[in-house]
Amino acid sequence: MSKSKYVNRDELVRYLWGIEFANPIAHNARNDVCDVIEQYEGADADVRENVHGEWVDAEDSELNYYYSVCSHCGSCLQIEKKYRNFCPNCGAIMDGGDV
Ligand SMILES: [Zn+2]
Repeated sequence: MSKSKYVNRDELVRYLWGIEFANPIAHNARNDVCDVIEQYEGADADVRENVHGEWVDAEDSELNYYYSVCSHCGSCLQIEKKYRNFCPNCGAIMDGGDV
């Protein structure tokens, strides 16, 4: 199965605008490509950036209840479910990154 690759259109256009061409033909071609990319909206994909977090252990001492909290959104889970590799509330990948 092939894996789709997505490009952030705005970042690509910014990158292309930042290239300096000594050759005026290449310079004009870049301008035309940027114009086309900026106008083309047909391929907008419904994708979101990955967010990362980790389960943080917590407890309610009055109820003697232990639970885990998503470091990204604050959603709580029963502590025995903290071994999930993603947060069911926000979708954060629980690999400890971006905490
Ligand atoms: Zn979350």
